[in-house]
Amino acid sequence: MPIYEFKCNSCGHNFDLIESLQEHDKHKEKCPKCKSKDIERVLGTVSVQTSKKS
Ligand SMILES: [Zn+2]
Repeated sequence: MPIYEFKCNSCGHNFDLIESLQEHDKHKEKCPKCKSKDIERVLGTVSVQTSKKS
């Protein structure tokens, strides 16, 4: 299953989601940190693994 990186526009938290949901279920995706649904997919960095520690 493809894994996509998302970024929360509310708190700025980055997280990965496995895109196994159907179209209508995508609306259920939300930030695991602040529960905001204001998230956006980050393109182009799916396979990038960083060791960044904030
Ligand atoms: Zn958030």
